[in-house]
Amino acid sequence: MCRHTAWLGAERTLADLLLERPHGLLQQSWAPRRQRHGTVNADGWGAAWWTGAGPGPARWRRAAPLWADASLASVAPHVASGCVLGAVRDATVGMPADETACAPFVAGAWALSHNGRLDRSVLPADAWPVAESVCDSAVLAAWLLQAPEEIGPRVRAAGEADPTARLNVLAADGTRLVATAWGDTLSVLRTDDGVVVASEPHDDDPRWEDVPDRSLVEADAAGVRVSPL
Ligand code: GLN
Repeated sequence: MCRHTAWLGAERTLADLLLERPHGLLQQSWAPRRQRHGTVNADGWGAAWWTGAGPGPARWRRAAPLWADASLASVAPHVASGCVLGAVRDATVGMPADETACAPFVAGAWALSHNGRLDRSVLPADAWPVAESVCDSAVLAAWLLQAPEEIGPRVRAAGEADPTARLNVLAADGTRLVATAWGDTLSVLRTDDGVVVASEPHDDDPRWEDVPDRSLVEADAAGVRVSPL
C-alpha cells in the first residue's frame, strides 16, 4: 500500500504538511508506522493543491522517492494552499513504473489518490480511455471521478466485485475531502483551523482518530462526517 494525506482548512505550505511533520509523508516514504502491505514507498510521489488560478489543482509528480527530491524541498516552503493532497507510492507488482502511474490522478476540479490494489477487469470499459495510466489506481480514479458524489457507493461496488481488493481512496476538489477506509488504515485529525485525513497519523497528537474499516469520510466547511460504507 502506498500512503496519502490531505489537508483542508487555513492556508499552509506544502513543506509544513508533507515534509516537516515528525512522521509525515516524507518519513512515511521510508518508515511508515502503520502500513499493512509493503514496507517502503520509494516508487514515486505526487501532490495536488488548489489556488483558484484554474479549474483544477496544480499537480506535481515524480517517479522517484520523495526523500530524493531536492527541488521539492527547496520549493515547498514557498507554496501554500488551503487544500493539499499528497501521496507516496509503493508500486503494485505488474503496474507501470512511470510518473503517470503516480497519484494523485486529476479530472476536472478533483484529484484522487489510492492506497491498495484492485483487479482492473471489474472496472467499466468507459473508464479506461480517460485514465491517465493503465495502473489499477489510475483506472479506478478515472471511474470514481466520473461521479465524485458516488465515490462511496462505487468503492463499495468495486470491493464487492473484487473481494481481494484494498480500496483506501482520498479525493479533494479544493473545498472538500472524500476518503474511504477499505482494507487499510485511515486517520483523521481535527484541529482549530482545519482537518487532516491521512493513511496514518503524522505525529503523536492525541486528537488523531482512527477511522473504522469500511467507512466513508467527508470533510468540508460544515465539518467532518464518518459513515459506514
Ligand atoms: N496499486 C497502486 C499502484 O500500483 C497502489 C499501490 C499501493 O497502494 N501500494 O501504484
